[in-house]
Amino acid sequence: MQYQSFLIKYAEIGTKGKNRYIFEDALMHQIREHLKKVEGEFAVQKEQGRIYVNAKTDYDYDEVVDALCHVFGVTAVCPMMQIEKCGYEELREKVLEFVKSEHPEEEFTFKAKARRADKHYPVTSDTINEDVGYDVLTAYPKAKVDVHDPDFIIYIEIRQKINVFTRVIPGAGGMPIGTNGKAMLLLSGGIDSPVAGYMIGKRGVRIEAVYFHAPPYTSERAKQKVVDLAKQVASYTGAIKLHVINFTDIQLYIYEQCPHDELTIIMRRYMMRIAERLANDNDCIGLITGESIGQVASQTMFSLRTTDEVCELPVYRPVIGFDKQEIVDLAEKIGTFETSILPYEDCCTIFVAKHPVTKPNVNVIRKSERRLAEKIDEMVEKAIAEDEIVWCS
Ligand code: ATP
Ligand code: MG
Repeated sequence: MQYQSFLIKYAEIGTKGKNRYIFEDALMHQIREHLKKVEGEFAVQKEQGRIYVNAKTDYDYDEVVDALCHVFGVTAVCPMMQIEKCGYEELREKVLEFVKSEHPEEEFTFKAKARRADKHYPVTSDTINEDVGYDVLTAYPKAKVDVHDPDFIIYIEIRQKINVFTRVIPGAGGMPIGTNGKAMLLLSGGIDSPVAGYMIGKRGVRIEAVYFHAPPYTSERAKQKVVDLAKQVASYTGAIKLHVINFTDIQLYIYEQCPHDELTIIMRRYMMRIAERLANDNDCIGLITGESIGQVASQTMFSLRTTDEVCELPVYRPVIGFDKQEIVDLAEKIGTFETSILPYEDCCTIFVAKHPVTKPNVNVIRKSERRLAEKIDEMVEKAIAEDEIVWCS
């Protein structure tokens, strides 16, 4: 069946007091943006603190539900029948018809849950529940009422109009993008950083990204993989402006000049410095990485302190306390995992030392970096000036 309307449920943003409308408007804006990607025309409307999506043309159900479930701020999507207020007998008939079209199976457990926001409606919620229960049991002799754990609930909401639905499809949750500033994600081709971007985006933060590319040591395919990952994250966050920074000269210079066991740390410090510059130039007020304590040598507490030291912006590391498997589970859930495990080389793995320092001393690292004094500033400026921008959506 083609539903005319979807009820959009949202939780957290309902609690923002006087600012509630800002969140609701941002959510409606995001819903409209996501629906632009699917065929069909839709009206997104707010009524009495509820958001509805009404279809104005034909559409593909799976495509629309998928689009709506990618919008941060949406806790559930309920495809529904919406009808004008009508007499009680007519309502009972329509509800039964709807249940029949939704649930062709013969055996199921259910309960009816009516809510009368309009207290003028002449029948109470309890009576509606009883009568709808009776009607369904009569039509389906094998069905049973289960008030504790039914297969589905028949929701009947009496408002300005009457909403009836039995499907509650979980959404992405979180807060609508655009309600919480913008941050710069250091996006590699790995498993962790796309998940990190997703998690911060989920809190309403707009995402911009930077990828450090080291051609010819890293291939075009490795870059394409990062673009693909950015697109996958963008299916939740909206279009991502990806900066591709050519990092080869800087990396080679560090390799020539600095002790090899410090390479990764020094390289990471330059990534953070450049990311911060790009962040400041693009109105981002934080950096995001996919680091997790202890995962590799460059992610011990000592190393993280050493990389943090070079930037002033806060660095958000949403997977900091996650085990690898927990990150993998999330990557699978959001659909980035398969791309992340494609075997293309990463710029960090090429120049990596056999025994990288795990407890870098800030003073020692600073001293090593002095060996770069002659050319490094110029190289950083050049890399930033040659920033290649790829819009990913
Ligand atoms: P990931 O799976 O996200 O690549 P990782 O476990 O491989 O993480 P590292 O390679 O140590 O970890 O990188 C730590 C973080 O630094 C990444 O999560 C990412 O945010 C950033 N980073 C690493 N390499 C790059 C790169 N080439 N371009 C942009 N950011 C990078
Ligand atoms: Mg990596």
